[in-house]
Parts: sequence; structure tokens; C-alpha cells
Amino acid sequence: MTEQYSDSIRANLRLLPSIDRLLNEANAADLVAHYGREPVRDALRIVLDAAREWIRQGGQPPNSNEFFQTALEVLNRQFAPTFRPVINATGVILHPQLGRAPLSDAAQEAILAVASGYSTLDYRLDAGKRGNRETHVEELIKSLTGAEAALVVNTNAAAVMLTLVALAQERETILSRGQLGESDGGFRVPEIVSRSGAKLVEVGTTNCTTITDYVEAITPQTALLMRVQAAAFKQIGFTEQPPLKELVSLAREHNILVLDDLGSGTLLDTARYGLKHEPTVQESIEAGVDVVTFSGDKLLGGPQSGVIAGKKALIDKLKQHMLTRAMRIDKLRLAALIATLNHYRLGNVETQIPVWRMISMPAEQIRQRAESWAAEVGGDVIASDSVIGGSSLPDEVLPTFALALTVSDPTDVAARLRKQSQLQPVITRINGGRVLLDPRTVLLGQDAELLRTLRLVLGLSVL
Ligand SMILES: *Cc1c(COP(=O)(O)O)cnc(C)c1O
Repeated sequence: MTEQYSDSIRANLRLLPSIDRLLNEANAADLVAHYGREPVRDALRIVLDAAREWIRQGGQPPNSNEFFQTALEVLNRQFAPTFRPVINATGVILHPQLGRAPLSDAAQEAILAVASGYSTLDYRLDAGKRGNRETHVEELIKSLTGAEAALVVNTNAAAVMLTLVALAQERETILSRGQLGESDGGFRVPEIVSRSGAKLVEVGTTNCTTITDYVEAITPQTALLMRVQAAAFKQIGFTEQPPLKELVSLAREHNILVLDDLGSGTLLDTARYGLKHEPTVQESIEAGVDVVTFSGDKLLGGPQSGVIAGKKALIDKLKQHMLTRAMRIDKLRLAALIATLNHYRLGNVETQIPVWRMISMPAEQIRQRAESWAAEVGGDVIASDSVIGGSSLPDEVLPTFALALTVSDPTDVAARLRKQSQLQPVITRINGGRVLLDPRTVLLGQDAELLRTLRLVLGLSVL
């Protein structure tokens, strides 16, 4: 094979060490301790192959330090997690791709407490017997929402699916055409309904559905009237939907049920924060809805989960359903959900739950943070908008201030801010040819890290 190469190339190739010799060098010990013997052996093989190719093209053999430096880079790349923390400077509070709601300190501590050992997850200390994980959170949800009973599952999509399967299978579910949207994360209402085995009956038009439309669609096969809270889209112009109370009375008359998929499911009145009023869970329960479902990680501000609240007889039926077992919440999220709900009971939501801290953050505080960033790395502080995101309050914005960086290639700067391997990646927004960073969604305590990444990418001296 090597005959086609010159003498000097063949001499250089012979200088290459064997993998075993490299593995016995002192340099290898640290790598092996960190990554394990086999991954290091594989990495050294890759580096040796590359070195051979390099020499064949006339290059000089690398020295030992170069071998190990390159092997370290290979290993770092191979072991780099693609799932990792980032700094969200987009101003989108419930960012659908960045993990929605960050958790409160208490929720994080609750996760750690049950993650690191055993717990009473499905156990009763008083009786020394089998218990049920749902009971830990049910009373809390009942007292916060006014519902007779409650159940939690993995996601709100699971909550809706379970409810439809258990209460409407092989029967009809009536839904307004104005509510047939797709919400964030690909939750498509018509698909979920048909997949559940319920038959979807669409009524009204995209912008207008009256109570008469529902009345005319009811048949002996009808099980449910379903309402879906405007998922990820906002209807403008003339729109009409009957009030929930009217749907409830109609359902009572015909001895059928009302299911309200609230999506975001806020427990607080968003109008208090200068936003449009988002229907609350309490209002739905108060209106007499039979089953309400909502997400744990949207406006509630907790972990991914789906809450089902409503009439006791129906919730009991759901609890006994076979599918419930397949959709059950795990101990980590259950712990975080309980800690999150506790903030509502304690009345410290605005200071403790990051989503609400961001929503209620005073504009002046945001401006000061943006200005302190500008003082460090340059750029201008401009008025801009933060958005709620997560299919909640579509199009509703919160006035904010952002740091605007004027750079020759904003796409490139945004990409380099994102592709940090040593520091935390920073996700930004490009607007009007500038890179914008909104302090509202940058967690308190992340400023120093953010500035380090900015300095590096902008080529400023690193202090
Ligand atoms: C977000 C949303 C869902 C899906 O909730 P997940 O918790 O993501 O499963 C369902 N319905 C509506 C109206 C939503 O906004």
C-alpha cells in the first residue's frame, strides 16, 4: 500500500505511535479517567487515521500533545449533550421550543428531594399501605379551582385524549369550527378527537358559532359539547361564540356533558397585568363545566403535565380508566407541580414563579437591565415587545425594552451566540436588521453569563 509514497512519507508514517502506546502515556490517564477506556481508544483511532491521511498528503507527524488535544476535541464533540440549558433572550416567555415554563426555586428543590431518594409516591405512611400518587395533589387543585375532584396526567394533550376516550368514545363530540386550530407542539384538535374514537361534529363557521348551531347538532348520539380555548391564533374582526354558561345549560337540558380544554389554564387574572383577560380555570368550574383540562407548563408556570378538574363522578371514571395508567405523571414532575401550586396557595406567585415574575416585571427594571448590558457591550436600548407564547394569549404583547446590537451580519452574530460550546448559548431575535436581546426572559442571575457570551462573540476583551 505504502509503495506509492515517497521514502520520507513512509518514514513519517512509521513514526506514528500505536494506539496502545498512546493509551499508556501519562496524557491518556486523565482522558481515560474522565471518559472511560473504550471511548478514548476510539477517539485515538480517529485521530491516528486523520494523522495518517495528513502525512500521506505531505504533512509532518503530530507530536504527542497534538494527538491528545485532538482526541479531547473529538471526545468533547461526541459527549456534548444536544439537550442543554440556554439563555432565552427572545422575550417569548412560554417559548414553545425552549422548554416553556422555567420552574420556581421551590419546585426545583422539590424535584431534587424526591429524585435523590425514595418517597411516598404511591404509599400511605399512616396505613403503611399502598397509596395513590394523585391524592397528593388533588386537594390542592380542588381548593384552588373550586372543582369537586381532580386528576393529573403527563400533558394536557393526554388529559384531553383521556377525557374523550373515557366519556365520548363511539359517540359524538360537538365543536365549533372557530376552535379547530392547532396549538403549539402540534396539538391538533380534530385529530385528537378522531383518534380518541369520538366522532367530531363541527358546527358554525370559522368566525361565528351560535347556541342554535349547537342545538341543531345535538342527537341521541351526542356525548359532549367541547370548547377549546383559542389555540395559538387570534381571531380578529367579527367573531361570536356562545358564553360558556349557555353551553352548560344546553348540555344539562339534553343530559350531555361540557368539556372545556383551556390550554393554558391560568389561575390568575391576566387582565391585572395589562393583558387581555384569559379565561381562568375557576371561571369554567363556576360556570358549571363538567370537565376542564389545562397544561401545567404554560401560564400555570410549572412542569409539563396535564390537569383534569371537574365533577367527581366523571373524574372517578377517568381515574379508573386503563389509559390513565399509561399517561400517569412521574414523581419528579408531580413534586414540581405540587410546589408550583403551593405558590398560589401562599400568594407568592409573582415573586416566586418565573413566568409570572416575567409577566409582572416593571418596564423600568427591564430598561435598567438593558442599559447595564449596553454599558458593558455597547448597542442601543430600544422599546420593543415581549410575548407570552405557548399558545397563550396569541398576539398579546407586553411593552418591554431590549438591547439592540447593530452588526454587519445579524444572522451570523445570532448563530454564534447560539453555537457556544463552552459558555451558555444565548437565543436572540433579529428585528429590523438588528440582534435584539430582551431582559424580561433572561433569568435574574444569568446577566453575567450572558455578558460573557456577548463579549466573546462581539470580539470584546473578556474581563
Ligand atoms: C397547549 C394546548 C394543548 C396541549 O397541551 P400540552 O400540555 O402541550 O399537551 C391543548 N389544547 C390547547 C388549547 C392548548 O393551548
